[in-house]
Amino acid sequence: MQNILELKNVSYSYHSLHGETKALKNISFDVKEGEFIAIVGPSGCGKSTLLSIISGQLRQEQGDIIMRNPDGSDSAPRIGYMLQKDHLFEWRSVYRNVILGLELHHMLTSDKLSYVERLLTEYGLSQFRDKRPSELSGGMKQRAALIRTLALEPQILLLDEPFSALDYQTRLMVSADICHLIRTAGKTMIIITHDLAEAICLADRIIILSGRPAVVKNELPVKLTLQDDSLLAARNAPEFQNLFNQLWEELTHA
Ligand code: ADP
Ligand code: MG
Repeated sequence: MQNILELKNVSYSYHSLHGETKALKNISFDVKEGEFIAIVGPSGCGKSTLLSIISGQLRQEQGDIIMRNPDGSDSAPRIGYMLQKDHLFEWRSVYRNVILGLELHHMLTSDKLSYVERLLTEYGLSQFRDKRPSELSGGMKQRAALIRTLALEPQILLLDEPFSALDYQTRLMVSADICHLIRTAGKTMIIITHDLAEAICLADRIIILSGRPAVVKNELPVKLTLQDDSLLAARNAPEFQNLFNQLWEELTHA
């Protein structure tokens, strides 16, 4: 598979009246098409800043970002962004929330709407279309937020601590579920998480950032021998503990 994304020496600082905050320093890494990357690092090190730069909301001060559209065209790959909070609007029904992105981008075509219908059915939300977000469980809300993101047919998904608002048990289920859906759809994913076990369970490769200004400390490939397809299979894999200890070491020895 070829690289869909390459970061080369990307640096970024915030400037304010109180001075400069260096957030990212010479960040370089590649992401292959279809790959699942987890980014871990101490709180406040610059992880969200990094995703904002990849998504194009912020522009790097130095360095290059190279993207290749997997469809072979010259246009940049479409990027979907999902945040920690689901950001569903209570005054809109579930359905009107999931089509919000399409509405904002003036893309309410019959093709797109039938894709949304398919996603609603696949993700078990069809019967809840007329409900308000507060009537859904945490996991269902995350699914609705995912449908809203997927409706725009992104080729790269950026997830910024998307499961951290969920309780532990729900989080295990929803994270496995959502990642399965994204993998099945053949998308590339970059997920930020502070949960080391989650990073190991979900990612093909983990990028470890240092404290601020973040530099890439290390990259760990994840290869797990799964005994079954249960939710806990990754956590029970023989390689899990070793990877966890390695991540722990890297993060605690800044
Ligand atoms: P993380 O997501 O790893 O917790 P962030 O990328 O949100 O970290 O922030 C990195 C650093 O930049 C933090 O020290 C934060 O306080 C600072 N920062 C974030 N956003 C801004 C901003 N808009 N203006 C100034 N400083 C900011
Ligand atoms: Mg953050």
